[in-house]
Amino acid sequence: MQHTDQLSPAQAMLAVILEHDNIVIAAHGSPDGDAIGATGAMAYLLKQLGKTIALYNATGIPEYLEWVPLPGRVYTKPSQLPFRPGLIIALDCGDVWRLGKEMNAVFADYPSISIDHHLSNPLFASLGNWVDPHMAATGQMVAAVADAANIPLTGELAQCVYLSLVSDTGSFTHGNTSAAVFELAARLVAGGLDAAAIREKLDNQWSLPKTRLWGKLLQELRIECDGEVALCSVTLDEIASFGAVREDLEGFAEQMRRIKKVRVAVLIRQDPGNRYKLSMRSSGQDDVRTVAARFGGGGHLNAAGATIDSSDMQGVIMQTLEAVRSISLKPVESL
Ligand code: 5GP
Ligand code: MN
Repeated sequence: MQHTDQLSPAQAMLAVILEHDNIVIAAHGSPDGDAIGATGAMAYLLKQLGKTIALYNATGIPEYLEWVPLPGRVYTKPSQLPFRPGLIIALDCGDVWRLGKEMNAVFADYPSISIDHHLSNPLFASLGNWVDPHMAATGQMVAAVADAANIPLTGELAQCVYLSLVSDTGSFTHGNTSAAVFELAARLVAGGLDAAAIREKLDNQWSLPKTRLWGKLLQELRIECDGEVALCSVTLDEIASFGAVREDLEGFAEQMRRIKKVRVAVLIRQDPGNRYKLSMRSSGQDDVRTVAARFGGGGHLNAAGATIDSSDMQGVIMQTLEAVRSISLKPVESL
């Protein structure tokens, strides 16, 4: 590829895309709103560029995001893909393994680019890596690629970008809610986006099992470290006993973070196969990414996670609390 030195990162990504076809758009497994939003936005963008595309996610679309408009089905196995990939675009994927075991195994066989905002991203794609931790959401970066291609931010593409922004900024409340985020959101609304309709689809969809499960967990959560840490653990059996699903815990750590005085909220969720999923939320300078990194995980300053191999819930709780203490929460006055 020539002349990429003079191009902006978004233009450089576009230049690679324009040179390829039969493009697979993939985001991290157990996707959140940014992963699905970025996937959808990229898909609509590439369709407008006349590309043949396939969408990929190792764990498919979670139920709470099934309303998101996507052009075509989401494949969950590389062997199912309708064509040999000419290019794989990895989105919102802080590491290649987060694409899932099967995609991870074949990823290096195909040309690839990566667009992501995780600080610890090891730049795993072969033809270009645009990794910018200052971006609030990967969907924001896809919007910049659309701008570079002169594709308008309207219709389904705009809905997907908005979903990304809402998801990764905590509905425009987290520290990453920059002027650029508001400006982009304003452009989407000016282009005809119905923000209230998306809010309705995202928020007012709670199942009764989810509501009851949250009720129980809110009763049971523990407060540690002089009230500065909230911690909750949940087993697969508990989730199943309510008829709930694991995705129903999305947002629970944020909810604990809302408790007055709490600076770090920790959710430990059992996953199938002797594993625990750690989910942490903080605010200000309290850095949960370094805590997650201790367990081989990652994420962002105020939102991070890890997967821990263990069959001992109590052990995981103790280890996690010890790791959270180690970031030595600073007195609030000094923040
Ligand atoms: P969540 O708690 O919502 O699953 O994740 C919060 C943030 O941490 C997200 O940005 C997510 O990408 C990142 N994250 C969650 N789990 C892992 C993990 O196991 N490894 C890495 N590297 N990042 C994770
Ligand atoms: Mn993201």
